[in-house]
Amino acid sequence: MQTTLTNSAEKAAAILNSGGVVAFPTETVYGLGAGICHPQAIKQIFQAKGRPGDNPLIVHIYSVEQLADVADEINSDAQKLIELFFPGPLTLVLKKNRCVPDTVTAGLQTVGIRCPVNPIAREFLRLSHCPVAAPSANLSGLPSATSWEAVYEDLDGKIDCVLCGTPSAIGLESTIVDCFGPNPLLLRAGAITLEQLQAIVPAITTPAATDKGAPPKSPGLKYPHYAPKAAIILCHAHEKMIIGEAPSAYIGLSAPPQGIALIKICESLEEYGRELFSFFRRCDTEGIHVIYCELPSYQGLGRAIRDRLTRAANKENNAL
Ligand code: AMP
Ligand code: MG
Repeated sequence: MQTTLTNSAEKAAAILNSGGVVAFPTETVYGLGAGICHPQAIKQIFQAKGRPGDNPLIVHIYSVEQLADVADEINSDAQKLIELFFPGPLTLVLKKNRCVPDTVTAGLQTVGIRCPVNPIAREFLRLSHCPVAAPSANLSGLPSATSWEAVYEDLDGKIDCVLCGTPSAIGLESTIVDCFGPNPLLLRAGAITLEQLQAIVPAITTPAATDKGAPPKSPGLKYPHYAPKAAIILCHAHEKMIIGEAPSAYIGLSAPPQGIALIKICESLEEYGRELFSFFRRCDTEGIHVIYCELPSYQGLGRAIRDRLTRAANKENNAL
């Protein structure tokens, strides 16, 4: 299959509307989209990514008005979060409307819904004839793609089109909050922080606090994620480490241990989040064997960065 590269949202939407699979930029990471009214294209998303069929896709809408097309019940907690954080890097899990096919939600009665704020994403979604189901636009298990070049590296020849925009401003996937169950739950940490969410809905908790040992509430959390080929070693600020002979890299906020070949010191948590996945990919391209990553605290965006780091390091599920 020939993969078209374009920076025209109109051209990309036309390909999507004719049943194609199109990667597009968002403020979190690049998404791999198909119209929810195109079952064959939905299937192709799972094939292109190598994504297990029981891992549901997030449905993307361009305006809050479109919510009624995909969700059935919007309780008062969800309403408050929508007012404040839509459009933005927040996904809400709500009761699904019958228009959303089971292939999108992997048979769940709920659907994850997000309304991105990135202007190219909004234009693309506005021109799409139906809501767009889109996971991250990377091969399953690898770091998410935060630039069109990273999408192309993973998916050239497997998808119909890449809508090329600028690198993702946040660089980490959306925060996911389950508003369907009896208590609102943070299913995935992201740029909308737990502190910001609790300021609006104080009852929001993490599954780890209530549910130790239970199966993950979000099916995707049981799969390995975000992992580069290089081994990840987590470290604390200024920790003394013995660095081996193999080519190694470091990313973090503080000065690195001695003897590292490739170094990225970030000036803020925002920069750390934005650069993390592209740094992982660069390390693989440059033949790095070990990446030392400084663990930030749980505060603010630190929670999301910790989550991605620990899951990349373990190559398995990790609690929030
Ligand atoms: P990705 O699209 O790669 O960013 O991953 C989306 C994440 O959202 C995965 O971990 C999915 O399991 C999760 N997700 C999508 N829909 C739902 C849902 N209805 N309930 C719980 N988690 C969901
Ligand atoms: Mg993903």
